[in-house]
Amino acid sequence: MFDVLIRDGTIYEGEGNDPVEGDLGIVGDRISAIGHLASASARQTLEAGGAAVAPGFIDFHSHADLAILNAPTLPAKVLQGVTTEVAGNCGFSPAPPTRWPGRSSSEGPEGARRECPGAARADRTCAL
Ligand SMILES: [Zn+2]
Repeated sequence: MFDVLIRDGTIYEGEGNDPVEGDLGIVGDRISAIGHLASASARQTLEAGGAAVAPGFIDFHSHADLAILNAPTLPAKVLQGVTTEVAGNCGFSPAPPTRWPGRSSSEGPEGARRECPGAARADRTCAL
């Protein structure tokens, strides 16, 4: 039994091969089977209706550095298929101000930072 079964998709396996029409079964956090799995059962079944089924995309030049502090799962990116973000590009990246010598926990450069509302960790900050 699969945890998730995606039926009737156009499956791109992410290694550059031509897509295949079929089903994809997931157990835990791993793809367990790709093929025609008509007799398979699953805890959750999704009907792809021929839509593309692909591994998550990597956004290797993201500027979501600050957005991720307020929305750690970045739902707007996930809805676009992005599952991995590479941040800190272009010399831009927040840093925990508690690690900056001579700064209090609520100050950053020029005091232009404040604590994030709802931040789970005391060292998370947001730019104003
Ligand atoms: Zn950039």
